[in-house]
Amino acid sequence: MATNGHKRLLIPGPVEVRPEILQAQTEWMIGHRSTAFADLFARLQEKLKKAFVTQNRVFVQGSSGTGLWEGASRNCIRDDRKALHLVGGAFSERWAEISKANGKQVDIITVEWGQAHTPEMVADALKNAAQPYDAVCVVHNETSTGVTNPIQAIGEVVRQYDTTGETLYLVDTVSGFLGIELRPDDWGIDLALTSSQKAFALPPGIAFASISDRVLDRAKQIPYRGYYFDFIEIDDSLKKNNTPSTPPISLMFAADKQLDDILVEGLENRWERHLQMRDLTINWANARDFGVFAQDGYRSPTVTTVDNRTKGIDVDNMAKFMGTKGFSMDKGYGKIKGKTFRIAHMGDMSIATMEEVLSGLDEFIEQ
Ligand SMILES: *Cc1c(COP(=O)(O)O)cnc(C)c1O
Repeated sequence: MATNGHKRLLIPGPVEVRPEILQAQTEWMIGHRSTAFADLFARLQEKLKKAFVTQNRVFVQGSSGTGLWEGASRNCIRDDRKALHLVGGAFSERWAEISKANGKQVDIITVEWGQAHTPEMVADALKNAAQPYDAVCVVHNETSTGVTNPIQAIGEVVRQYDTTGETLYLVDTVSGFLGIELRPDDWGIDLALTSSQKAFALPPGIAFASISDRVLDRAKQIPYRGYYFDFIEIDDSLKKNNTPSTPPISLMFAADKQLDDILVEGLENRWERHLQMRDLTINWANARDFGVFAQDGYRSPTVTTVDNRTKGIDVDNMAKFMGTKGFSMDKGYGKIKGKTFRIAHMGDMSIATMEEVLSGLDEFIEQ
């Protein structure tokens, strides 16, 4: 494939997509009510269950991750109950906003950007709640800060305090899925949602979620679930290997191929490769007197937020310089832009490419 001056993406989404995967999108179009489509859907379902390590159904949705945020809030939170949102960065903040924008009542546990949520904080909130929460909403990997939350331990607490069986555990794993260990069934996660353009290393435009029976039982109790993200409709179609409206078929071809390659690599190997890329990046940042923004012990395997506050390099010049090396680089997100910058190491990126990136950054710093 001609590169046409393409710069390899080092930003935390969309990430670099391999030419073979881009190519898979050029398959001849098929009708979504055809047998060929049902076959494609059924194949994807089997592979997605392996990728999510779940026995539950996996929704395949034409939208970005934001769509499934809205779907999760609408289908899981009853109007006369509340959700507990854990907020510690731009994305977790936005999900809480989406719940509110859909008229839902929300309590929030806020931590400072760069900090993780602990199981103890969640236990306190659940202990003191006047009524059981309908949902606890957590972001697995906060992409704006580079923090990975301890979702397994938080899940244990959610189960422990869920004496009435009403509290659903909802996890946004948009930048975690296929880069960080995730076991929804073992960890009591009712819904794990993701989109395609982060560690899945697909083009944007398609989203996925593992959905427990408890989620569907809840959805049935909610009269106004909206239309596009009505989980009951989506599940009815899914049982027939189909979707309620026209799905992004080309992206599904790409996902079919990408899942084959991911399952050949092996989930555990893929998680391990991400840990190695994280450690390489953290060691680099520490050795150059930068430091890492995210709290020690919770540093993300998929994206490192480099703390630039003491060293204060010019992130615009850095991005320009990396551009001459053929890379497209991030300059930080939201209120910590410039004070930090992010190095994404997710998807199909190799250790060798990471080394190339870091030596490029060294050249910039030393010049
Ligand atoms: C990118 C991102 C989102 C938003 O997903 P879209 O696919 O852009 O809608 C949500 N949560 C996290 C943690 C993200 O990194």
